[in-house]
Amino acid sequence: MRRLPLFLVVLLVCTAAASAQTAGSAASVKTDKVYAPIPGFDATAMEKTADPCANFYQYACGNFSKVHPIPADAPEFDEFYNLMEYNTQVLHELLQKAASAQANIGTNEQKVGDYYQSCLDTATIEKRGLAPIEPELRRIAALQSKGDLPQLAARLNRMGVGVFFSYFSMPDFKNATMEIAAIDQGGLGLPEKDYYLRSDAKSEETRRQYVAHVANMLKLLGESPEAAQSDAQKVMDFETALAKGSMGVVERRDPDKIYHMMTLTSFATTAPAIEAPQYLQWMGSPQVEKLNVVSPDFFPALNKTIEATDLPVIQAYLRAHLADAFASRLPHAFDEEHFDFYGRKLEGTPQQQARWKRCVRGTDNALGEALGQLYAAQYFTPDMKAETVQMVQQIEDAMGKDIDELDWMSPETRVKAKQKLHMIANKIGYPNKWRDYSKLEIKPNDALGNEVRAQEFETAYELNKIGKPVDRQEWGMTPPTVNAYYDPTQNNINFPAGILQPAFYDKNATAATNYGHIGAVVGHELTHGFDDEGAKFDGDGNLHDWWTAQDKKNFEERTDCVANEYSQFTAVDDLKVNGKLTLGENTADNGGARLALMALMAHASQSESDPTPEQQEERTFTPQQQFFLGWAQNWCSNERPELVRMLAQTNEHSPDNIRVTGVVVNMPQFAQAFGCKAGQPMAPVKACRVW
Ligand SMILES: [Zn+2]
Repeated sequence: MRRLPLFLVVLLVCTAAASAQTAGSAASVKTDKVYAPIPGFDATAMEKTADPCANFYQYACGNFSKVHPIPADAPEFDEFYNLMEYNTQVLHELLQKAASAQANIGTNEQKVGDYYQSCLDTATIEKRGLAPIEPELRRIAALQSKGDLPQLAARLNRMGVGVFFSYFSMPDFKNATMEIAAIDQGGLGLPEKDYYLRSDAKSEETRRQYVAHVANMLKLLGESPEAAQSDAQKVMDFETALAKGSMGVVERRDPDKIYHMMTLTSFATTAPAIEAPQYLQWMGSPQVEKLNVVSPDFFPALNKTIEATDLPVIQAYLRAHLADAFASRLPHAFDEEHFDFYGRKLEGTPQQQARWKRCVRGTDNALGEALGQLYAAQYFTPDMKAETVQMVQQIEDAMGKDIDELDWMSPETRVKAKQKLHMIANKIGYPNKWRDYSKLEIKPNDALGNEVRAQEFETAYELNKIGKPVDRQEWGMTPPTVNAYYDPTQNNINFPAGILQPAFYDKNATAATNYGHIGAVVGHELTHGFDDEGAKFDGDGNLHDWWTAQDKKNFEERTDCVANEYSQFTAVDDLKVNGKLTLGENTADNGGARLALMALMAHASQSESDPTPEQQEERTFTPQQQFFLGWAQNWCSNERPELVRMLAQTNEHSPDNIRVTGVVVNMPQFAQAFGCKAGQPMAPVKACRVW
């Protein structure tokens, strides 16, 4: 699957996309819900009897859960999820057309059509059984000694099976114009290292469920129940040892902690068991002398663990990961078992998504820029692009003004901050130049083979970049994606066509509502250039300190305030928000909303057209109130508690309701807009501000 480059900062985590790859029952619901756009101003979501000054999320979103119950096949529901489902329907139509078009072999239309159609064909998948992964299972069974592991690891890693560790290309943090090789921790089946190490009851239960899942996978591959149970426990021990050597999610946010250039020769001595120089060749990597060892402590731990583990345990580990990686292209029992753990148990989703949806998203993942061309041509018009460009420009102007007016920054740093701001490149809609898929072979009736070839194609594409200049025109997300990102090494903000739609950008809504919605999203991405991570990179995208010592101290005092503030919020039950993990996102949310409001105020002095019929009720609110309602409704959501728990432990974004509250309590403009008195919950006396 297309993997996001290390260290992009995105607007939200798209959990549904994760279950789309993983989960899958052929016998899913016949009556799929049909999704329609949610308007930018959604009066039905509001709980108007609530007091906005007591709990603004409740006021703006209190009825959202009632109007929008979580579909049985979803871990959550919000405006992002709705738009993603809507875009999936749109792509579905495009794919049905492509699949029945009898397009010439080798064309993009043939590839997306056959990829989609073969994924949908569960009868053929069922009939072929384990045959498509039989060659890999034989290779695993044929391992004679641990000395044969690196070659097999390379083979599986190339196919996208994440065993042991990962090897990839990335821009050089210290010379952001060039792509370098990087090697990183990996090989875990649970989301993150602490899942293996926490001692609370819920974590222990999750680990028991994971062991049962691995055992079930091994049974499906033909092991006896007793052998499978015993092997699964040993796989758990193996992964726990890798987890202990891994770097945690909070540390990984610090660019200095994930950048360690080493010569290949000296790196190889830290983990002789993986035979790094040969492994790189087997991966098909260009020759390298140096590479970034992202998590240096991991590799000695991996080495020790491989040495201390019996080969049959490692073979069971490889088999289980192979089956999990391709579960959705294997017979139903695999697909169902995979979903049962990753969907039902980890995310709390009761029901598998319809096969067609998962196949649509699978096609987007494998052939995103082939499918994206068809999508963009129909659903993203030049005037939409022009309007977005204009809004981005206004928000960048607001940031310039904001930097000019900050009272805590010296003139020296101010000049550098503005230089960086002016160097930010804006990418909107879709790539100027599309990917070439001519070397990727997609065949009818070969779901798993297509998936493997797509993965290998992606790996080769990524590794081929090593040693070459960075292509800043390239996109890290496909055009229909409902998300956005800032890339600190390229200093650019990226808004795929997929998010520039209602509710985020709604032609029928007022300007104020749109500034609260998509405007704040634009401001959010822009602020990422200046959050605690982004501020460490300069305008050229290099990891280079451009701050005076005093300004940095002032900046850190302000970010500490945000980290402490958010740590007080409760995510779910007994679990608090991790203020350090979410600091960058919270800084971006706060800065983004401020900038969007500044841009709106500058824009409001221009002319506002007559209200449309849709805007009658919206216009009963002042523009400032519309703005804050727009901001809040970005995050109206209905989530399963299992998902909230998982995200609070692994994800860099605060829970949705906290994204609303955390911002409004820090903005005096909010208290003013709704007439809140100082000391009320949404107008606390003490507030934090970075940007
Ligand atoms: Zn973000």
